[in-house]
Amino acid sequence: MNKKLKISIVVPAYREEKNIPLIYSEIQKILISIKKYDFEIIFINDGSPDATWLEIEKLCTQDKTIKGVDLSRNFGHQASLTAGYEIARWDAIISMDADMQDPVSVAAEMITQWENWFEVVYARRKNRNDNFIKKHTALLYYKLLSKISDTKIPRNVWDFRLIDRKVLVAFLKLKEKDRYIRGMFAWLGFKTTFVDFDRPERVHGETGYTWKKMIQLAMDGILNFSMFPLRIGFLIGVFMIFLSFIFLCYMFIATIIEWDIFYYQLYKWISVMWFWVMGLQFIFIWILWEYVGRVYNETRERPLYIISEEININK
Ligand code: UDP
Ligand code: MG
Repeated sequence: MNKKLKISIVVPAYREEKNIPLIYSEIQKILISIKKYDFEIIFINDGSPDATWLEIEKLCTQDKTIKGVDLSRNFGHQASLTAGYEIARWDAIISMDADMQDPVSVAAEMITQWENWFEVVYARRKNRNDNFIKKHTALLYYKLLSKISDTKIPRNVWDFRLIDRKVLVAFLKLKEKDRYIRGMFAWLGFKTTFVDFDRPERVHGETGYTWKKMIQLAMDGILNFSMFPLRIGFLIGVFMIFLSFIFLCYMFIATIIEWDIFYYQLYKWISVMWFWVMGLQFIFIWILWEYVGRVYNETRERPLYIISEEININK
C-alpha cells in the first residue's frame, strides 16, 4: 500500500467530564503509537449538563486531529453515535464508549482483524459485571430477541466495533429514526468477526443509560427487527377459536348423550359461539396489523439489498 490508511475513532459522550482526558491519553498511548495509520478522534457531546464539552474543546485546541461536535441537547446514545458516523469518513471507523469500559487495547486487536480483511469487527464480552437484575433482564431480552427477530443479531455485542468504510457508506443509507444500531449492522451483513474480552467497570461517573432509555432501546430492537408483535393477534385468535371448538364439541356430545336438545340453555350456546367470533376478530385485527407492518417497512425506506463489492461494473 502506498498511501497511509486512516482510522476514525468515534466517541459519544454524555456526562463524561472526568473520562474525556483519560480516554484521550489512552488512545494516544496505544493507538497513535501504531505508526502505520493516521488517526482522528471525533468526540460527540450529547448535551451533557456537566463540563464534558469544555473538556472536548480543550483537547481540540491542543490537538488538531481531534474533532468535536456539540449536540444541542441530549438526543441519546444511538443518535449521538450516528452523528459521529456521519462525520467520520476515513478508511475504518471505530466506535467506543467514553467511560473506559471499551479498552483501547481491544480496539488495537480489532485493527488487526481489519487487516485480515474483515469488514465488521465486534468486541464481544465474556462476562457481565452488571448487577443481578440488569444481567438477567438482559439475558432474557437477548434470548427473546434472537428468537423472534428476522435478522440474526449477534449476542453479547454492543456499540464497540470497527467497521470498514464501505460498511459505513451502506449504514448511512439506513434512514430510520428510532435506531437500534447493532441490529442495523447485523442487517447490513458484510464479513464479520469478533474480539472477545472481559469488559471492565466504568471508571468515573454513572451510566447514562437509565432504565427508561434502556427500555426504549429494547423496544426499538424488537419493533425494528421483528414483526412478531404484530402476529400475536393471530396466535390469540387461533387459540380462542380452538377453545370455542373444544367447548362446542363438549356441549354437543353432552347433548347427544343426554338425548335432550334443551340440556344446555340457548345463552350457553351463544356464549361459546362468542368465543369463536372473538377469535375471528383477533384474526382480522392481525390482518390489519400485517398491512400496518408493511406500511411501516415502506416508510422506513431501507434499501432492498446492500452491495459489498462490484467487478467490471461500469458506472
Ligand atoms: N451516551 C450518550 N448519550 C446518552 C447516554 C450515553 O452519548 O444519552 C454515551 C456515554 O457517554 C457512553 C456511551 O454512550 O460513552 C455508553 O453509555 P453508558 O456507558 O452510560 O452505557 P453502559 O456502558 O452503562 O451500557
Ligand atoms: Mg459504559
